[in-house]
Amino acid sequence: MGIRCPQCGRELSADAKFCLDCGARILPAKTICPCCGKEIPRGRLCLHCGYMLTEPCPHCGAELLGKENFCPECGRKIHETEETAK
Ligand SMILES: [Zn+2]
Ligand SMILES: [Zn+2]
Ligand SMILES: [Zn+2]
Repeated sequence: MGIRCPQCGRELSADAKFCLDCGARILPAKTICPCCGKEIPRGRLCLHCGYMLTEPCPHCGAELLGKENFCPECGRKIHETEETAK
């Protein structure tokens, strides 16, 4: 069973990291908790030990350490401050 590109819908192998068609980055559905090492669904909190996971880059999905201001992968600002006029 493969996965589908979120962007173009092309079927890809389950371990594909990028879409072969459009080049979109494929995010793994699961991640490994750096604290207890268990496989957990991608999210903010480890279900096993309660460790707070860092959020991936909101733009490209790259794994971050949580300290970066700019994504090392795409170079965009991580925490986009919504400076909309109030
Ligand atoms: Zn694609
Ligand atoms: Zn954990
Ligand atoms: Zn990024």
